[in-house]
Amino acid sequence: MFDVIVIGGGVIGGAILRELTKYKCEVCLLEKENDVCMGQSKANSGIVHAGFDAAEGTNKARFNVRGNALMPAYAAQLGVKYKNIGSLVVAFSDGDLGTLVRLKERGEKNGVPGLELVDRKRLRELEPNISEEAVGALFAPTGGIVCPYGLTIAEIGNAMDNGARLYCNFEVTTVRREKDSFVVGSADGREVRGRVAVNCAGLGAGKVSALFGDDGLRIGGRRGEYLLLDRADGDFVSHTLFFTPTRKGKGVLVSPTADGNLLLGPTAEEVEDGGTQTTQEGIASVIAKAAEMCRGIPFRDVITSFAGVRAYSQTHDFIIGESERTEGLFQCAGIESPGLTSAPAIAEYLVGTLLRKKLKLEKNPLFDGTRKPDHFFKDLSVAEQNALIREDPAYGKIVCRCEQITEGEIVRAIRRNPPARDADAVKRRTRAGMGRCQGGFCQSHVAELLSRELGIPFDEVTKSGAGSELLKGVSK
Ligand SMILES: Cc1cc2nc3c(=O)[nH]c(=O)nc-3n(C[C@H](O)[C@H](O)[C@H](O)COP(=O)(O)OP(=O)(O)OC[C@H]3O[C@@H](n4cnc5c(N)ncnc54)[C@H](O)[C@@H]3O)c2cc1C
Repeated sequence: MFDVIVIGGGVIGGAILRELTKYKCEVCLLEKENDVCMGQSKANSGIVHAGFDAAEGTNKARFNVRGNALMPAYAAQLGVKYKNIGSLVVAFSDGDLGTLVRLKERGEKNGVPGLELVDRKRLRELEPNISEEAVGALFAPTGGIVCPYGLTIAEIGNAMDNGARLYCNFEVTTVRREKDSFVVGSADGREVRGRVAVNCAGLGAGKVSALFGDDGLRIGGRRGEYLLLDRADGDFVSHTLFFTPTRKGKGVLVSPTADGNLLLGPTAEEVEDGGTQTTQEGIASVIAKAAEMCRGIPFRDVITSFAGVRAYSQTHDFIIGESERTEGLFQCAGIESPGLTSAPAIAEYLVGTLLRKKLKLEKNPLFDGTRKPDHFFKDLSVAEQNALIREDPAYGKIVCRCEQITEGEIVRAIRRNPPARDADAVKRRTRAGMGRCQGGFCQSHVAELLSRELGIPFDEVTKSGAGSELLKGVSK
């Protein structure tokens, strides 16, 4: 019997699971896919928003500002890349400049520190590649960037190191109440029992809620498409550049990523199926908008395109707290942007205030919140690299040439928490396959390592779970 069952292995479920391990309780995470971080948390902009976008008094404003303040130490503890690069909301007209004044006032009411309006000249000093048409900007020094999948994986891995259990390929399809507990079942017949449950199922949160008897949650999907450029272009801009927001949202941004690539996007398109395909029209509109923001973007350096789907609620605010219809069900639903930024703050509140009170939780004196990074070899000094290779020769073999990832790092990602079970899982942890060649050279080697470490035949190795086998018809 678990004290808490967390449903959904994204950045919110991960943050809550980890926060729970700070207390003496038995906790588990149920994730429907073959790996954690398979929803919105793997495909977003990776921006740690300052907190001036959301209206005063909303959950979004509250958790964004607090999450922004927590993020530097949170990411450092978990060994995840975070950079405090600051953001600029760029104006292209007098109307935009008026909006920036209102945005600054709103940010100050929300508690965002250091907001500053900058003129045309200062904007050009900050960003030499900015468009000639840009007339000013709102500078937010607390804006930052973080690796979103690195963060999610590290939260869950750290929670598991502190005793949490993870069940993958566990799609919650049944729930029944027995005395004072829930029995939560998966499509394949497995069941877990828990005193309370936390619904962090992203796009699936409405369905999960209904299984618990609360059918009042409506979740919509809005797809965002992106282009990612080579790491050679990571310093094309130094801040995250946003357009001045309109009623339709924040629009396309131009930003470095925490791993040093250049990111352009996202679009915003309502979708019913949650599909993460990219489209010709979407990519064309990203290119057109990014070219309005900056001069001379090296579009020939695009290495991949991808899309993520925002899960928004009927209130267009985060829904956080115990369900009014089902006692013991806690909702973390409609967590669209700035959910990544807000994750540590949402977990702090949901666990430290609500669940702590409900379950009378006591502190776990054995909790260790630190974790070493998943990929690190190329950042070591030559002396440190040599010492590591002497200890384990697998660190002397480069598997991914583009990102300089060693066999030692890949084997470690397969063995440590949360264990990588497919090629994409290895990629999200180590960056093997995320470089210029997008896995063209290293994927077969990664598959060999997965086959060896998991003790499965080569043709059972998948890209991302059952049905995505990398090879078919290999002779036995
Ligand atoms: C295009 C885009 C750009 C964004 N940009 C930013 C940004 O720059 N900064 C920022 O702060 N935020 C941003 N966000 C928002 C941020 O990504 C989300 O708020 C955050 O990732 C939400 O995390 P989550 O854990 O709630 O959901 P998810 O990551 O979607 O996780 C939900 C998980 O639940 C699982 N699941 C679903 N149904 C079931 C079931 N029945 N049983 C078991 N498991 C189930 C799914 O497989 C999934 O893994 C962006 C989002 C998108 C889509």
